[in-house]
Amino acid sequence: MQQKVQGLKKEFSKRDVSRLRNLVKGKTGASIGTQIGYKKETKDYKEGDVWTENRKTWTIKNGIKQTVSKLDAIKKEVFMPLCCPECNKVMKKRLDKPNYKVHKKCFDCVVEFEGSLKNKGLYKDYIKDLKTNNELAILDEMESYLLNAINATNDGYVSEQGTVERWVGGYEKEKIAKDIIENSKIRREAIKNKND
Ligand SMILES: [Zn+2]
Repeated sequence: MQQKVQGLKKEFSKRDVSRLRNLVKGKTGASIGTQIGYKKETKDYKEGDVWTENRKTWTIKNGIKQTVSKLDAIKKEVFMPLCCPECNKVMKKRLDKPNYKVHKKCFDCVVEFEGSLKNKGLYKDYIKDLKTNNELAILDEMESYLLNAINATNDGYVSEQGTVERWVGGYEKEKIAKDIIENSKIRREAIKNKND
């Protein structure tokens, strides 16, 4: 029994990683629900229904019609503005993007900031903190993504492109959720201790 759950968990996370990767690259799969040249009849929707209307995907949650997508929330997370929020210059250098992801400012601003830390003798601590925070952020993201994936099993998963994804199978939802939370906790402590 234990072996079976382990196997499922492995498959699950591997699949989710590639899903997340595709998503970041903007590959969300073919859209469904919209059909050209076919006039849809008016329909009544109920709680949990998912449908496409005016090029958006809608659902009814807690009795309210809304566009809901956990996946799109992740997409917004990696969105980069045109200009650096600190110096207002256009971010077009190759190193601007990876730096913006971590520091929320352009490469030049990061260099300047790190230079000032070096002058104050704080650079070493800063790098250590950065590394720890980065590892913790990745862990948090994976944990919440996996938990969302499990909880989305009942009503499917919707991306703005109208892709409805469903996970089927009779695995033990609560047991896996517990495992994810527990393992994340252990890993979190390990990261903090290692970098202390
Ligand atoms: Zn800047």
